[in-house]
Amino acid sequence: MPKPQPPVQKNETITLTFEDLTHEGNGVGKVDGYPLFVPYGLPGEKAQVKVIKVKKNFGFGKLIEVEEESDDRVTPPCDVYYQCGGCQLQHMSYSRQLSMKKGQVENVMKKIGHLEHVPVHDPIGMNDPWRYRNKIQIPVGEKENGELKTGFYQKRTHNIIDMDTCLIQDEPNDRMVEAVRRIATELGIDAYHEESHRGVLRHIMVRTGQQTGDIMVVLVTRTKKLPHQDKLIERITEAYPNVKSIVHNVNKDKTNVILGKETNVIYGDQYIYDTIGDIKFMISAKSFYQVNPTQTKALYDKALEYADLRGGETVIDAYCGIGTISLFLAEAAKKVYGVEIVPDAVKDAKKNARLNNIDNAEFYVGQAEEIMPWWRKQGLRPDVIVVDPPRKGCDEALLTSMLEMEPERIVYVSCNPSTLARDLRILEDGGYETQEVQPVDQFPQTNHVECVTWLDKKER
Ligand code: SAH
Repeated sequence: MPKPQPPVQKNETITLTFEDLTHEGNGVGKVDGYPLFVPYGLPGEKAQVKVIKVKKNFGFGKLIEVEEESDDRVTPPCDVYYQCGGCQLQHMSYSRQLSMKKGQVENVMKKIGHLEHVPVHDPIGMNDPWRYRNKIQIPVGEKENGELKTGFYQKRTHNIIDMDTCLIQDEPNDRMVEAVRRIATELGIDAYHEESHRGVLRHIMVRTGQQTGDIMVVLVTRTKKLPHQDKLIERITEAYPNVKSIVHNVNKDKTNVILGKETNVIYGDQYIYDTIGDIKFMISAKSFYQVNPTQTKALYDKALEYADLRGGETVIDAYCGIGTISLFLAEAAKKVYGVEIVPDAVKDAKKNARLNNIDNAEFYVGQAEEIMPWWRKQGLRPDVIVVDPPRKGCDEALLTSMLEMEPERIVYVSCNPSTLARDLRILEDGGYETQEVQPVDQFPQTNHVECVTWLDKKER
């Protein structure tokens, strides 16, 4: 039997009606049952679409013109939205973004977790879903007239888009990038050229403590020397007294990785500070810190509520990073044990505990899936276990040792609903019951979703 041919051909333009949205935020329309995925298409819309890729069971299209618009369509406020790869959902009203994220979580709970009855709450969104990011890392290039330009890469290329503002960045980050670009241009500092691996300034990174107002500027160069270093520092700090730290990072390698190995503080302190709730954090150039502190607070408050601590509990925080969740838990529990794979993060966690006079949190370096069984052998019996793994979810060995430890409750913080649903199924089969899932929108305008989930031990 001849194989059925896809009903569309590459490069033809067709009229398509979108029925659905993918997790990435692409519109889905069907031609005789054959699905086409089209970026920027919204359910209910009828549009002219150019077919750009045809595979056996599905294809991709490009939106040419929307003929019938959805009420959910909005004009993206960013001028470069359609070129830049940073945001995926600016063409969608914020309420639709939230319902899309909720739908995604519900979908994987059913399809991957076989958890039909678990309540998924409406996502906790932001009142103002813009200018939330406290950290920018932006590549530096040159305009034809020799001035420096800064901008993100155009989608699927390494061409730098010339842009003045990024609307999901906190204002001080934008302003500092603009200032450093201008001052460096005035001083005649060259941009790095990726193709020839020549030139100097590769990236400008800015971190802001949203509660303290502190700013850290990191200048990444290919060269060991930062040209005109003293003048650069003088001009930046005179104009911007909130700059508490300037760091020079050297990255000599031909690589996409932004920061190199060598880091020197060339002005002020090694750290800036920020607070989430009543806990203070030290942030260095390289340390991991949540990029949307407002929503992080909402996320941790939920995690704490789900942990339901009364003061006498022993808690494990696996994948603890710089101890952010652990320190919140420590305020409400008897003892918290944190485990994290990156040694520098554990150092930061210990420092952050001291900074907040928290002495009932202990941090260990290692793989959670190895440390947990070891703790179990030592006789550690936690009342509550909190996990916050990376996108790939929890290691199976870790899930097994969690089950063997038999905590009353498990709180699972996740940045990937699919691996969350997979892991919840394993925990359900091991004797736990998923009570609720609360999505929190940490990254408005993008297709990322965070969730906090509460599980209880089943009655036996
Ligand atoms: N809970 C922290 C960090 C969460 S990010 C916060 O909210 O800020 C996930 C963390 O897991 C990262 O810090 C990463 O370094 C760590 N990690 C990744 N794999 C790990 C493993 N196998 N064992 C322990 N930690 C791991």
